[in-house]
Amino acid sequence: MWDLDVSDIRQYAATGRLPAVSVVDGVLGRACERALQHHEGKVADYIPALADADPEVFGIAITETNGRTHQLGSYGHVFSIQSISKVFVYALVCEALGHEEVLTAIGVNATGLPFNSVMALELNGGHPLNPMVNAGAIATTSRVPGNSGAERWEFIQSGLSAFAGRPLTLDDGVYRSEALTNQRNQGIARLLSGYGCLKGDSDETVDVYTRQCSLLVDAHDLSVMGATLADGGVNPVTGKRVVGEQVARDALAVMATAGLYERSGEWLVEIGLPGKSGVAGGLLTVAPGKGAVGSYAPRLDEAGNSVRGQIAAAYLSRALGLNLFASAHDASSPGTPASETTSSDSGKKDTDNDE
Ligand code: GLN
Repeated sequence: MWDLDVSDIRQYAATGRLPAVSVVDGVLGRACERALQHHEGKVADYIPALADADPEVFGIAITETNGRTHQLGSYGHVFSIQSISKVFVYALVCEALGHEEVLTAIGVNATGLPFNSVMALELNGGHPLNPMVNAGAIATTSRVPGNSGAERWEFIQSGLSAFAGRPLTLDDGVYRSEALTNQRNQGIARLLSGYGCLKGDSDETVDVYTRQCSLLVDAHDLSVMGATLADGGVNPVTGKRVVGEQVARDALAVMATAGLYERSGEWLVEIGLPGKSGVAGGLLTVAPGKGAVGSYAPRLDEAGNSVRGQIAAAYLSRALGLNLFASAHDASSPGTPASETTSSDSGKKDTDNDE
């Protein structure tokens, strides 16, 4: 994997809530500074309207499960949600149909292949494998309850708005631009249909899928949407339950398996949290039980994941002790060698170790 530029940040391991407000604010400021030093990557242009994005814009927000938000930069700058919508549509469909049905039809295993891979589908007898890649997401969207495309779109728009805690609207320019150029997704939908894995009409499904990808959000919205999953399905800002605890858990698990496509394993080893990227430059990182980070920075790596977003997430994960796989030896446990009990600090209590 390319250098995430956090090798000098000591891994901080913690459980329970995020550190104090001033600590989170301080770490967020330094994570932003670090991300802004990076100019690598390229703005997506395979959807023509996305190529117009200003590559320098960077916004980031953290929303805690107690509803408190920390935000910096252009956190109110709106962009199309793109693939990050897959997480929330998957959660809503699981809530409506039951987890088992969706699990059987779609699956939850990693594909190890790019987001728009047709190969992944062919190699697995038409089984999409994971709802975070296009084939699985399109198959999921085809299962959205409703008697027409319009009803299914209404279900998605109001469901994602409940996650965000405000009414989300469509970016018509992005929607039209993608609708004119998404032959590949149309092909995937037809292939799914040929394998009997798509419900209903393939063109109508791709239209609804393209709309869901074109919903406008900002970094703050993403953080609230993610914090809803981190809070067992209850939006911590509105206090309203959007999905059940089991569904929230399952959505985070599938993010962990394929949220950053063929880079998902490397992401999980370094950041150690469920994450989901979108080609417009959005990135969502969720710390279960604690909160979520939403960011926007349109320059992407080769897999289509925001470069600055990944750097900021890696920094926050380390400095705030968010990595789910990180632990530090408990010096109070029986059997701790004397040499270790005498050391003044094993590093566990540092909340901001960047200085
Ligand atoms: N709408 C985009 C597509 O289907 C979403 C891809 C992405 O964000 N990775 O191609």
